Amino acid sequence: MKIYKFGGASVKNAERIRHLADILANESEDLIVVVSAMGKTTNQLEEFTQMLYPDATYEDKEYDCLYDQVVSTGELQSTRIVSAYLNHAGIANHWMDITQLLQTDDTFRNAQVDIAASQQHLQTYIQQHPAHVYVTQGFIGGTKDGLRTTLGREGSDYTAALLAYMLDAESVTLWKDVQGVYSADPRKVKDAQLIHEMSYAEAAALVEKGAQIVHHKTFEPLAEKHIPLYVRPFLHPKEKGTVIH
Ligand code: ADP
Ligand code: ASP
Ligand code: MG
Repeated sequence: MKIYKFGGASVKNAERIRHLADILANESEDLIVVVSAMGKTTNQLEEFTQMLYPDATYEDKEYDCLYDQVVSTGELQSTRIVSAYLNHAGIANHWMDITQLLQTDDTFRNAQVDIAASQQHLQTYIQQHPAHVYVTQGFIGGTKDGLRTTLGREGSDYTAALLAYMLDAESVTLWKDVQGVYSADPRKVKDAQLIHEMSYAEAAALVEKGAQIVHHKTFEPLAEKHIPLYVRPFLHPKEKGTVIH
């Protein structure tokens, strides 16, 4: 089992979703496909929540709860679209509602995952719903009481790592809109160098210094189980990108 994660830029329009299907069509192994909200949908849903609740402050737990119920719909929607298109394109897959499986506490907007409970839910679910390809949501989870939660902005990378950890996946691949991990943000620094191979610690240090390429919580679960993390170019899927191991 491998984990493939596609960020917002990789599902931002119909052309990109067709391209995503082409990438999956070349894969023969069992996969869990983790998908973000399309394009900048999460930002728009954030603005929408603010309009619903104009007096909010960031300390307000009620607001944070509302935020998670609204903002989580971005991933629920994108995964429905991707899953339906893949089935249409001949890539049979099972849509999985991760809010029923990835159990978190009720720290809305920064929910903490209960790994033991989630692992049990996931393993049972997968046994009961066997499939070669699952399509599910990044960034979101759910409380025991059935409220949706979010794991923090850009958290889909972290979801991919958690799923790999809990299911002992052989690798995680983050398909991004860059060639891989560079020495600096290639959109800002002209002579940034592509790094082909790094350790978890080197990658974590780069992110710590401000490189917003991979969510900072992604490395720890992978390092613990020695699961390699590939950062690969969505638009050039034949290229290897970066391996972090
Ligand atoms: P995703 O679509 O998976 O959410 P992100 O947008 O979060 O991907 O991350 C990719 C972006 O990270 C790139 O567009 C790039 O501008 C930025 N970035 C910042 N630092 C780096 C770096 N050191 N190497 C590569 N990309 C970087
Ligand atoms: N859609 C969420 C965000 O934009 C999570 C993610 O893309 O990783 O923050
Ligand atoms: Mg991201």
